[in-house]
Amino acid sequence: MTTPTSLIGLPMEELKAALIAHGAADAATASMRASQLWNWIYVRGARDFAGMTNLAKDTRAALTDTATVARPEVVTEQISSDGTRKWLLRAGPGVEFETVYIPEPDRGTLCVSSQVGCTLNCRFCHTGTQNLVRNLTPGEIVGQVLIARDSLNDWPESGGKNAGENRRITNIVLMGMGEPLYNFDNVKTAMLIAASASGLAFSKRRITLSTAGVVPMIPRAGEEIGCSLAISLHAVRDDIRDELVPLNRKYKIAELMDACRAYPGLSNARRITFEYVMLKGKNDSLAEARELVKLLKGIPAKINLIPFNPWPGAPYECSDWDQIEKFAEVVNRAGYASPVRTPRGRDIMAACGQLKSESIKLRAKERMALEAAESA
Ligand code: SAH
Repeated sequence: MTTPTSLIGLPMEELKAALIAHGAADAATASMRASQLWNWIYVRGARDFAGMTNLAKDTRAALTDTATVARPEVVTEQISSDGTRKWLLRAGPGVEFETVYIPEPDRGTLCVSSQVGCTLNCRFCHTGTQNLVRNLTPGEIVGQVLIARDSLNDWPESGGKNAGENRRITNIVLMGMGEPLYNFDNVKTAMLIAASASGLAFSKRRITLSTAGVVPMIPRAGEEIGCSLAISLHAVRDDIRDELVPLNRKYKIAELMDACRAYPGLSNARRITFEYVMLKGKNDSLAEARELVKLLKGIPAKINLIPFNPWPGAPYECSDWDQIEKFAEVVNRAGYASPVRTPRGRDIMAACGQLKSESIKLRAKERMALEAAESA
């Protein structure tokens, strides 16, 4: 049996084409049927075709054996004592990745992965110790939102208790595993689907793409996705940033700041978030706080100070709390909001930079063997 085609993550035009290819629509009916499916998938959260009651019977029949709206498999779901949830998902043999939901009083943020593993090797990041396995597909990226909505009973039209305005997931951040700007096309497709007004309907301002600084791709994030931007800055001098974020050897801080200044649509209401992980004795002096303020001059910015989240074997320690507060004060006095991000979900290794899966990159042959064994 051939693997069914996943309809999740196909842009509308491709969905229409897929329906025609599967004999589930013809040129005259493709638009209407694709819209119906879109609504079932992204508004009602349908997990199979059988329940799509307003879809013609022959359409359902044509899709049942050859297509699917199944999500990646949920391997585990963990709930932290602070309410943070983490899902370990599996897209196939040896392809596991994580998604985290962070509830706050005024919002709920879903932290989505864009790659399995990462190529960047940031020294303080746990994901960075896992080699890149592969890019996630658009369906696997947007599928994380579907899975979280399933689990939180957060579908507006499924009769879920969070129907209507009281949605539990209000924001999406591309801050899970991977570097989203190294998987640009798939991330773009997935986020445009997440922002579709007739589907998941996330406002583009509530979608934030975080990058370690892939400078040439930053304008495209603004122009083609139109999402908010976050920069993992973490240091104010190139020598220190070269060590913490090796990508800095390629794209220096000054270039990165220029790309930020030019990011489309910036205003005081729409700022860039700068993430700054607090590492004891490494990047946390008050001189560096003042330097940070200078660096951000002219950029509508918010600064997120992130207490370093430890992981086994990490070569750094978190700054002392009073040092973090002093650092924050310097930044605050200069007029920047600088909330210190309360670590969330540390007890389940769900906090910033703690995500990692056991997946390793397999040779094509090894993966094919595993896939064959699985489908046998
Ligand atoms: N590659 C993208 C997306 C990952 S976002 C990026 O770098 O922006 C994950 C965020 O958590 C980044 O800001 C990262 O620098 C930060 N982070 C990584 N390890 C951390 C740790 N151990 N403690 C706190 N923050 C960490």
